[in-house]
Amino acid sequence: MSTESTLIKQHVIDPEICIRCNTCEAICPVGAITHDSLNYVVKADICNSCMDCISPCPTGSIDNWRMMPKAKAYSIEEQLKWDELPAELNDAELAAAGGESGDAATTQDSSADAASAASVVSTATASAFNSAQFGATIPPWSAAHAYTNLYGPKAAEKTITATVTGNLRVTEVGKEYDTHHIVLDFGNLPFPVLEGQSIGILPPGEDAKGKPHHARQYSIASPRNGERPGHNNLSLTIKRVLEDHDGQPVRGVGSNYMCDLNVGDKVQVIGPFGASFLMPNHPKSNIVMICTGTGSAPMRAMTEWRRRLRASGKFEGGKLMLFFGARTPAELPYFGPLNNLPKDFIDTEFAFSREEGKTKRYVQDALRDRAADVAALLKDGNTCFYVCGLKSMEEGVVMALRDIAQNAGLDWDAIGGTLKKEGRLHLETY
Ligand SMILES: Cc1cc2nc3c(=O)[nH]c(=O)nc-3n(C[C@H](O)[C@H](O)[C@H](O)COP(=O)(O)OP(=O)(O)OC[C@H]3O[C@@H](n4cnc5c(N)ncnc54)[C@H](O)[C@@H]3O)c2cc1C
Ligand code: SF4
Ligand code: SF4
Repeated sequence: MSTESTLIKQHVIDPEICIRCNTCEAICPVGAITHDSLNYVVKADICNSCMDCISPCPTGSIDNWRMMPKAKAYSIEEQLKWDELPAELNDAELAAAGGESGDAATTQDSSADAASAASVVSTATASAFNSAQFGATIPPWSAAHAYTNLYGPKAAEKTITATVTGNLRVTEVGKEYDTHHIVLDFGNLPFPVLEGQSIGILPPGEDAKGKPHHARQYSIASPRNGERPGHNNLSLTIKRVLEDHDGQPVRGVGSNYMCDLNVGDKVQVIGPFGASFLMPNHPKSNIVMICTGTGSAPMRAMTEWRRRLRASGKFEGGKLMLFFGARTPAELPYFGPLNNLPKDFIDTEFAFSREEGKTKRYVQDALRDRAADVAALLKDGNTCFYVCGLKSMEEGVVMALRDIAQNAGLDWDAIGGTLKKEGRLHLETY
């Protein structure tokens, strides 16, 4: 098989919806992303399809792929000039361009170049466990329609101004972890949102290079009809970042700006973002929520919407299961209110990894402890799974789901594929 005819799945960025927030370039572990004043682009010869940049991208513009003959991959120079993504090549066009389609195994490159080989479409790559491959990019069939990017660089209105109507600390006072429940009101301006969506906050001021700070993304923690039902407001759950990922002291720009806001302050917002991490709305649909820390925000939104529907007496929901992890109970946002929810409404399992005198327990351990219930839900086509929180949890959680399925005699490859295809397994880790 000649290198000419090797197909690659080339990673490309949609220039029409990218908000140039730099998140992907900052995150990419191999430096595959670069930009000029116009576009953010991916270097085909360096990207190894690790998927690290996918969930953090606030617009989804990074999650685009094009089958290309490796030798004819779009160059950086070409991509930097794009105003829109090129159309996907069909089989005939691919063949004409010097590539072959069909059986992926026949397109495998024999090159020893690890980086290139990883992005070659090949059955050989299937052996490594890649949790991101199971994450759906479409919503479940009964999700409501999500409005996205109503405000932002590409929208008619660049930002919307929100007024802070609440700022409450929701973790124990006096500890290093400091998480706030912040309520933003949009007055009479339209900002329709759904549970599972997020918004971008534009912190005032400039970065070290004298450029305006890029937007910081936060999940919406309230249901579609408002933090206060019938009001045009929403809530966020924001953890103050005071240490970087290496434990070094730092003062996170966006999180500290938000946590220090006073009632009455104005905030510049863009969004909403997200059109796939959305809850099912059909009767008897089950929701399994697996989260850590501020990953609880979308879970709070979904739970509260189901609670309001139940209170209305007009909706018959399915089972709700919540697996919620933190180092200690004191660090868990909304710990008290969650404990007060009726047991016949939501089945909650907490997992604490640093509780004094107790064995470390992570969300994936809690999942395994409830394997029989989780397996039953995996079998049920009415179940949607949502994973949100620390990036480090994602692989362990998806592996736990796989093991639970396999131990119950289920075919994980089939179930995992179906969950993705039906928009029923959603991963949002950051
Ligand atoms: C889809 C999505 C949803 C999100 N939802 C939420 C949410 O609901 N609540 C929430 O609090 N955050 C959420 N985030 C994270 C949020 O967008 C910011 O990244 C976070 O608040 C840090 O921004 P900052 O401006 O304070 O820190 P920055 O000024 O951007 O960073 C300062 C330093 O801290 C490091 N750093 C950044 N974040 C962390 C962290 N969490 N822990 C340790 N070090 C860090 C950076 O690498 C940098 O070195 C979400 C992110 C994504 C992608
Ligand atoms: S998939 Fe991984 S290697 Fe490719 S651009 Fe994204 S972070 Fe970089
Ligand atoms: S993270 Fe997404 S929106 Fe931000 S620069 Fe990258 S592709 Fe664009």
